[in-house]
Amino acid sequence: MILINRHMGNRYVSFFFACLVFFGLFHAFYSKIAVFVPALSPFLFPTLTIFLLVFHLFIAFFMAMKYWCDKDRVFLLAIAFAFAGSAILLAGTMSNFPGWLNPYGTHRINYNDAMIFFMMRNIMMACLFILATVLFTLRHYPLTRLMYKFIICGIFIFTATMITLTWLWSSHSSLLSLDLVNNESRQMTVLWSQVVNIILIVLWITALITMLAITRLRNLFWVSGSFLCVCYVITLATLLSSDHVEGFAWYHSRLFETTATLLIIFALLHDVFSLYRVSHLKYQQSYQNSIRDALTRLYNRSYFYESLSHSLSTTSASKPVSVIVSDLDRFKRINDTYGHLQGDKVLQFVANLLMDSVRPQDIAARIGGEEFVLLLPNTPSEAAKQVAERIRLTLSSFDRDTTHGELPEPITISMGIYTAQSPTVTAEECVERADKAMYEAKATGRNRVVVFK
Ligand code: GH3
Ligand code: MG
Ligand code: MG
Repeated sequence: MILINRHMGNRYVSFFFACLVFFGLFHAFYSKIAVFVPALSPFLFPTLTIFLLVFHLFIAFFMAMKYWCDKDRVFLLAIAFAFAGSAILLAGTMSNFPGWLNPYGTHRINYNDAMIFFMMRNIMMACLFILATVLFTLRHYPLTRLMYKFIICGIFIFTATMITLTWLWSSHSSLLSLDLVNNESRQMTVLWSQVVNIILIVLWITALITMLAITRLRNLFWVSGSFLCVCYVITLATLLSSDHVEGFAWYHSRLFETTATLLIIFALLHDVFSLYRVSHLKYQQSYQNSIRDALTRLYNRSYFYESLSHSLSTTSASKPVSVIVSDLDRFKRINDTYGHLQGDKVLQFVANLLMDSVRPQDIAARIGGEEFVLLLPNTPSEAAKQVAERIRLTLSSFDRDTTHGELPEPITISMGIYTAQSPTVTAEECVERADKAMYEAKATGRNRVVVFK
């Protein structure tokens, strides 16, 4: 318990240290480029806003896709709505910067509306982040259809209400009004600096604490979510020091938000590629399991027949294919005397010997209890006989001592060979003929190699 708590503590310390380093580096970078900001200012804010809009749309789409893959994780939907709603409000923000691409124009920027959009965007995102974190605790509880519908409708209605309220508060509607910035003097009002800004900071700190306490930074996904909360806290704290919308703090905060969002995108891409890596590894494992025998790890019967049929299609007199069927001699007695477990060890020993005795392009397979088969492409009968003899002699040379007990006594093997020289012969016929040769080896005294005539 103490160990787990210490581990968690270390994780939180590392997280805050990483945030500090990021903020320090970012601040140093910003101080370097700040000299250019006044010249760029007519472009910078709207350009960064467009970047942010695209990034938020991307994250919203990404989260929606993640939710689509696993509908039990309804918290992803809350995050998707947070970013989608934010993208809509960012598009609304852009409408307050008419003609921003024309630096010589005399277009009036509606700073108060931009600020209202900024405030509502922050409230909506922080609330949906808190909701997503709370919903995360429900991921292992099966939700009823009614609860599920209730949550989705709730998220949708909340997001739609926030967007509508923003519209009503802005100058687009005369129904409601809110003064956060004086458009003439460009000074921020007392309402912004002493109420709204502070409420937003408290909201984001609440979101951060909820996230840290519930998710315990268990993976990169929640680390990046918590990081975004820290970014908003710092962004808003930076704005506390500013009383003018054209001050450096505004550009600083927007650049910071955009950079932090870009980092989140990298974290999400990392998430996708690690998932891809895991699933690819699992696919490879299950593919290998489907073509290999569980006891010996040699190829299985169906893979062997498939490969043999494939090799036979290109067989000719100059490119013959050899098949060696092998059967352990008196193996039943090994089982009866030493038990099945020891019998299995013998089968594994022989399998390893077969695998080590052939070329990489050859195929060693187990096609029955103690029956093995080798597929040797591009191998004439004489060469196949040499391979079989080498295996037979090697196997018979081992005993209990030289194998450290893997073989309880010397084991022998009988082998039959058939070499195909035309594609007209089928895989089944090949094995049948090699099998016949193997039975002849059994009938003529075992522990020998016979070539099919
Ligand atoms: P021979 O081939 O020389 O005629 O004699 P044999 O004793 O080997 O004859 P047979 O082919 O009838 O016996 C095969 C034995 O292999 C029977 C079965 O108990 C054993 N066997 C089959 N599959 C396995 C397995 O997966 N593990 C173990 N331990 N034994 C197996
Ligand atoms: Mg046998
Ligand atoms: Mg047998």
